[in-house]
Amino acid sequence: MQGKVAVEEHFAIPDTTDRSLRYQTDYWKGLQPRLLDVHDRRLAEMDRTGIEIEVLSLNSNGVQSVLDAGKAAELARKANDALAASIAKRPDRFAGLAALPMQDPQAAAAELERCVRDLKFKGALVNSFSQLGSPDDAIYYDLPQYRPFWAVVERLGVPFYLHPRDPLPSRRQAYEGHPWLIASPWGFAEETAMHALRLMGSGLFDDYPKLKIVLGHLGERIPYDLWRLDHRLRKVPGRPAKRAMGEYFRENFYLTTSGNFCTTSLIHAILTVGADRLLFAVDYPFEDHAQATVWFDAADIAEADRHKIGRGNAMALFQLG
Ligand code: ZN
Repeated sequence: MQGKVAVEEHFAIPDTTDRSLRYQTDYWKGLQPRLLDVHDRRLAEMDRTGIEIEVLSLNSNGVQSVLDAGKAAELARKANDALAASIAKRPDRFAGLAALPMQDPQAAAAELERCVRDLKFKGALVNSFSQLGSPDDAIYYDLPQYRPFWAVVERLGVPFYLHPRDPLPSRRQAYEGHPWLIASPWGFAEETAMHALRLMGSGLFDDYPKLKIVLGHLGERIPYDLWRLDHRLRKVPGRPAKRAMGEYFRENFYLTTSGNFCTTSLIHAILTVGADRLLFAVDYPFEDHAQATVWFDAADIAEADRHKIGRGNAMALFQLG
């Protein structure tokens, strides 16, 4: 399929590749030049694989692991300005999602407003919880102090992409002796799904019913467990949300194919939320353009759905027209 739009594609600036030096592996070192490049190798691969537009976002953990709120705001601004300058060279091929200093809800709302109004960004991508003050601190955005932030997101009408990050060292007991499971193979989805469930259970979508949340990796495993979640929650009273989790998930969430190129899981996601709520994504450079597109172009789904998921839904959701 030509003219695809890929919506979870990452870039870095030198400040944020340094933040990922915990991954001192050959794999990570190989990724760095690809994260820093937008217009050379990346664009050539997009041409070869039928991707017309990439929606770019800062690499994880990015701004979310900066312990000082002022420095987080500074880094977000710097990354967003760099992204805007990069997009300006090829506005026909790239669009941007804002990095946000969620450590300070007011600063995050102001930066989102600036990015949408002045830099013409199409939404935000945030790497799950933020740390503030102490490395063991994890702040989740269902907390009451974030309600005014969500009011701004709803008013601007742009999607908020909730992206994975590493769990905190202090919360890794289950992974002891099994460090290979901490990040993308398992821990990322566990962390991000939990954050999404907190947003749903908190009543956030009762207060702001027009919010649009995007989850990668075909929904961070939530579609597979959604029936059981509501089945069991009917027996457990006390959560603030007024409606079943499945209702929020079908009305407020969009899912992308980033890094999960499995046709069985894609079909399950389509059956769970509908083809209008799925979007194509690669997760470049952590995933490969060729592998993602060869899979997607041949996946055993209806052609009408392929065109929605590969292009149409993203054009509408991110207002790329
Ligand atoms: Zn990603």
